[in-house]
Amino acid sequence: MFESLSDRLAGALKDLRGKGRLSPSDIDATAREIRLALLEADVALPVVRGFIGKVKERAKGAEVSAALNPAQQVVKIVNEELINILGGETRRLRLAKNPPTVIMLAGLQGAGKTTLAGKLATWLKGQGHTPLLVACDLQRPGAVTQLQVVGERAGVPVFAPHPGTSIGGGENPLGVSASDPIDVARAGIEEAKQKQYDVVIVDTAGRLGIDEELMRQAAGIRDAVNPDETLFVLDAMIGQDAVSTAEAFRDGVGFTGVVLTKLDGDARGGAALSVREITGQPILFASTGEKLEDFDVFHPDRMASRILGMGDLLTLIEQAEQVYDAKQAEEAARKIGSGELTLEDFLEQMLAIRKMGPIGNLLGMLPGAGQMKDVLAQVDDKQLDRVQAIIRGMTPAERANPKIINASRRLRIANGSGVSVSDVNQLVDRFFEAKKMMGAMSRQFGLPGAGRGGK
Ligand code: GDP
Repeated sequence: MFESLSDRLAGALKDLRGKGRLSPSDIDATAREIRLALLEADVALPVVRGFIGKVKERAKGAEVSAALNPAQQVVKIVNEELINILGGETRRLRLAKNPPTVIMLAGLQGAGKTTLAGKLATWLKGQGHTPLLVACDLQRPGAVTQLQVVGERAGVPVFAPHPGTSIGGGENPLGVSASDPIDVARAGIEEAKQKQYDVVIVDTAGRLGIDEELMRQAAGIRDAVNPDETLFVLDAMIGQDAVSTAEAFRDGVGFTGVVLTKLDGDARGGAALSVREITGQPILFASTGEKLEDFDVFHPDRMASRILGMGDLLTLIEQAEQVYDAKQAEEAARKIGSGELTLEDFLEQMLAIRKMGPIGNLLGMLPGAGQMKDVLAQVDDKQLDRVQAIIRGMTPAERANPKIINASRRLRIANGSGVSVSDVNQLVDRFFEAKKMMGAMSRQFGLPGAGRGGK
């Protein structure tokens, strides 16, 4: 899911790369592309409008940032706004102070409620809870049996009326009818209280489409069990209908959270991305397959970066902002321009970059790095360690002016830092070469000061 949206967004943002400054028309053109990408993915129109409005406004008003170039800044804004429409913070399941916590599942038939009941129970069990599943879908033939199968697989008990009998077997100790889902729901809660299950998951009936009777029944169950959470289960594959279905359930039953299912499908999925913005209710979980373990807490930030499909570029942007020392970078740029760069500066820059983590990881975060695995595997922190050791083995005078490093000094440095003389030679030679090249470039392009983020 979201693959074509990812591709389109990446395409829209790609054109910004390499630009030193963004004109209002650059921003408008990018916003237009992003708008098309979202509409094509079925994101609801009002959501798209709001999103584009904010991205444009923020991109135009963006402060010139020392740490990020303009393209990176726009990526950052788009990412943040995507996180916003997906709900911002991760919303955790609310558990009742006095157990049992009651969770009611609502949604259309086939949305994935019964499957979800098993997944949720498994997940809760993994967290040390003792869940009970309650089968209140008495409409669809086989629904109760399906929940029992799911419960068995999850190793979680199921409270269900026996077909043709009343609850509790022939004796009907609870005195309820097995054909009324509201009675079953009530009895399920009682059972949980008596047997000390701490979470009750109530599976309800769905219909193929929205209808009055469905809403009436769901609202009846809701009133009977007074749920701590009512989760609206939404099939992400249903496209544009997702929005109207969500609105109907919001108005007819009300819900406190959304679960997106079938995110493993290849539909465009954008409608599901609109549900939080349209209904105002957060997405709590995502379901990504038919197996019990294909299930996860929904994290808006992770989903946004997955949709943006920028590898871990976003992580890299964040880290760059964190370790970036504006003064140090400016000073280095000035020295490059004036030819004053020393090995001491070089060491400092290298240490700043290495603060961000192993160099192979950093390069691996760049988009497209997936195809370069073999090359990256050779980028070795040990080489950098060696360079660091050589520079550290020099005296401050030698670092400031490598020209004074003659043959006997080279031997001493090599011995002191545990490398060969040719390693030292290589480093010193390369430093002079690089310095010459940087000096020439800065004269040609009018550096310093524009040392970062392209010019
Ligand atoms: P209910 O009518 O709402 O209870 O829906 P079910 O739980 O019976 O699910 C309907 C169908 O969707 C079943 O065939 C499930 O195996 C399938 N299903 C449920 N969740 C997912 C999911 O996340 N991914 C995929 N691919 N299939 C799912």
